[in-house]
Amino acid sequence: MTYAFNQEDRIRVAQELVDVAKNFANKGWFPATAGNLSIKLSGEPLVFGVTASGKDKENLTIHDILAVDGDSKAIEPTNLKPSAETLIHAEVYKRVPEAGACLHVHTLYNNLISDLLFEQGKLRIQGLELIKALNIWEENAAIEIPIVENFADIPKLAAEIGEVLDPRVPAVLIRNHGIYAWGADVFAAKRHVQAFEWMFHYMFLKLSVQRDALAGLAL
Ligand SMILES: [Zn+2]
Repeated sequence: MTYAFNQEDRIRVAQELVDVAKNFANKGWFPATAGNLSIKLSGEPLVFGVTASGKDKENLTIHDILAVDGDSKAIEPTNLKPSAETLIHAEVYKRVPEAGACLHVHTLYNNLISDLLFEQGKLRIQGLELIKALNIWEENAAIEIPIVENFADIPKLAAEIGEVLDPRVPAVLIRNHGIYAWGADVFAAKRHVQAFEWMFHYMFLKLSVQRDALAGLAL
């Protein structure tokens, strides 16, 4: 099956990625240009627009977005290079067919929490109101966000993420690296990243306070 090229879709997707990049950049979530963002253009065959490698996400333009296929190869001639991590976006779209956008940021708190809880293989969060932002509405709901090792071999990392991801909980943490989060469209994916980052910050502070309280009891 070939992908029917539609210029308007391409421009819309590129503009949406630029808008999300600006929002996240304002929060300081692209330290040293790190991170990458994508929006799906077609599921069958898989084609998505993704930020090009090495571009400054704080000053992204629609000319910094390229369209790639399920093998993360550009679908048309371009001087832009997809980042190596594009393979992870492709893996998410293959594993979660309802995902329409996938966003990856490196932040202080997602790094801290992924390292602190790495041995457990997951971060468990229960009862926080912001879990509802993930479209999970049970009272006192609990979620577990998987945490994987930060393999330098990106195909291996992508496979590991595909292996552990839980479609109910739209994110995976990579130890001391960052988060991949997704949603039905870019609006949902952005909301998910913001909810997760808030919860990581909360959990980090809570763990710190608990540790200090325990240290006080031991005195
Ligand atoms: Zn990364």
